[in-house]
Amino acid sequence: MELKTLSSGAKLCSISLFSGGGIGDIALEWGFKIPVIVKCEILEERASLLRSNYPESKVFQGDIWDLKSEITNHVKTTLHKSRPWLIVSSPPCQGMSTNGAGRILKAIEDGKRSEHDERNRLILPSIDIIEELSPDWFIFENVPTMENTVISNENNLPENIMSILKRRLGSEYTIKASVLNFSNYGVPQNRKRLITIGCRINKIKQVDSNPNQIFTKKPSFLHPLPNTSNKITLRQTIGHLEKLDSKHKLFSLKEPLHRIPKLSDDPYWWITNTPENESAFNNLTCLNCNTSHIRPETKQLDLLLVKCTKCSENLPRPTTYERGWICSICSTINKKYTRKCINLHQRNKAKLETIRRLVKGFDTSYRRMTWDLPAKTITQNSGTYSSDGKGHPEQNRVLSILEILLIQTVHSSSKVKVRWNGRYKFEFLSESNTLFNPTKSLDSIIRDVIGESIPPLGMQKIIEHLQQLEKKHC
Ligand SMILES: [Zn+2]
Ligand SMILES: [Zn+2]
Repeated sequence: MELKTLSSGAKLCSISLFSGGGIGDIALEWGFKIPVIVKCEILEERASLLRSNYPESKVFQGDIWDLKSEITNHVKTTLHKSRPWLIVSSPPCQGMSTNGAGRILKAIEDGKRSEHDERNRLILPSIDIIEELSPDWFIFENVPTMENTVISNENNLPENIMSILKRRLGSEYTIKASVLNFSNYGVPQNRKRLITIGCRINKIKQVDSNPNQIFTKKPSFLHPLPNTSNKITLRQTIGHLEKLDSKHKLFSLKEPLHRIPKLSDDPYWWITNTPENESAFNNLTCLNCNTSHIRPETKQLDLLLVKCTKCSENLPRPTTYERGWICSICSTINKKYTRKCINLHQRNKAKLETIRRLVKGFDTSYRRMTWDLPAKTITQNSGTYSSDGKGHPEQNRVLSILEILLIQTVHSSSKVKVRWNGRYKFEFLSESNTLFNPTKSLDSIIRDVIGESIPPLGMQKIIEHLQQLEKKHC
């Protein structure tokens, strides 16, 4: 493979770390024809998707801590000691606004790191690789809360991630981090991610008026300009598709990817009675006598408002069953063997019973989306009705596989045309190029890979911006 040499001396190619199924790489590889020469991914099923979709890339499957020297050696050999143009890294970090430095110090003293810390620390090997390979540009994609996250650094001391970036890469790079909402970049989805961009090209570094400031509230000069008018809506993206129903019609005969999971009877009943942009928690009108109820102010009374107060018919709110007793004074639900309620009232004659009560959760769950807004964030739980904002605006179901592919801009819709439409295939290849059989179901893999990825159109907008900066200043 002959790679173009750029005026900076770098080769026009990129490297992706934490590639997932390679959805984010679609824009680079197929949109810009910038080869992603190395991809790294820990899970076999995703690595096998990378192999089948990108036969030219070298796929490193495994733990990045173990693989980082192999990766840098491979890149140096392939590029004959030149540098790559770009490194993209999307460590699957969780961010922890509540996790203070103190808790990390304590965990280190106790000789163990929390699982959160382990995952969030995955940014460190990416920094090692960037230091070693000196690309012209790097891009990190993280959850928005990452900005405030403290992790144990390479010396096992608690340190904020932004300060680690500045300390390790700040002398060579100008670095800017800002939360972008991809709905401002033509993606039909409210998806907020912390996008951190670093540049080591001198002529562009000189444009930075405040090199000490990494995090900016508004997108910086290294980020593409947002366009907050003309957002693409859910209706414009999926409104034309055949109607489905999670009880009576699970797939379309014409469009094989337009398919959904089945819902069991109770959740089906709840969603059937939920209007657009509402949560089933607010299904407060009795279907029998039409009495409407007002949601009680206290949590305890709300948990017990599952029947019509006039005719005792069940309300279509998300409910579950719990064995316990109800305090006659404060209406709290209490565990089987306790003699006093949580407010210390005597149990007296309250009898043990199976109590039908409201599911505990926020109003964002069991909620339908809105037709005339961008979709809610497509997550790995896009197939789970109980998760945040997963209901179709009108039909009794979650979004189909085809719909999440349209919303994540892997496929073209009438308003959003993409150059790579339909090219990505959910086919699995093992390391020896034979077919690989994943243990998970195909649809759950698709929902995982789509939910964790950066939308390719969002990536396109970022890359276009970097190229424009080079054109303007270099
Ligand atoms: Zn009633
Ligand atoms: Zn009580």
